[in-house]
Amino acid sequence: MVIIASNFKTNHTRQSTKEFISFINDYLKKDSIKNEIIVFPTATSLDRFNTVPNLTLGTQNAYATIKGSFTGEIGTSQLDEFGIKTILIGHSERRHVLGETQEQIAEKFNFYKELGYKIIYCIGEPLEVKEQGLEKTLEYIYEQFVGIDTNYENLILAYEPVWAIGTGVTATNEDIVNVHNAIKKKISKPLLYGGSVKVNNVKEICSLNNVDGALIGTASWNKEDFIEIIEKTK
Ligand code: 13P
Repeated sequence: MVIIASNFKTNHTRQSTKEFISFINDYLKKDSIKNEIIVFPTATSLDRFNTVPNLTLGTQNAYATIKGSFTGEIGTSQLDEFGIKTILIGHSERRHVLGETQEQIAEKFNFYKELGYKIIYCIGEPLEVKEQGLEKTLEYIYEQFVGIDTNYENLILAYEPVWAIGTGVTATNEDIVNVHNAIKKKISKPLLYGGSVKVNNVKEICSLNNVDGALIGTASWNKEDFIEIIEKTK
């Protein structure tokens, strides 16, 4: 069983998200696929979708609050409206583009952990660290676990090297296996790979040692392609 997750990032409208979810749902109903499928739409496209049990909707982000004065953010009172209990935390775009610090990320993690959310927690090194070798890469990644309870029962990890995200440059199998083996030795949780996963490489990547699935951006935004990805990994 693998986990296949689609991160919409800032793509799709409310209407196209609805069409996407219903398309995937109908497909999963017909073909009894056992893989766990998770979709992260934009916050404005969240809804109470009626989905099959192995299709879950999650939020790409939320603030560590029930409600309050945090302009531009959403909290659990908004997520509860849609029955959302899955959250992506630590994504590289939130770390590097939006400037979330490890301290803020850990605070968010602990808040959502207390509420029992399923957390997909992302880690991954930028290019300048990768170029310094595996040891430095692992050091950098371990820093991203500061303040994070890696024993949390509803934790899924996603290794997403920053240099592979949205670049079309997928990590080599060797890169993936080296990092996944090292992380798994320390933390025994499902571990996804993300970063330029495509229709034509997803099967191979998901069959690598210690790879439990994929977290996919660009290649998952077209619903037919996403079905093909699910097909290839079933
Ligand atoms: P791409 O698949 O577009 O490289 O994005 C990966 C990602 O960031 C998923 O969270």
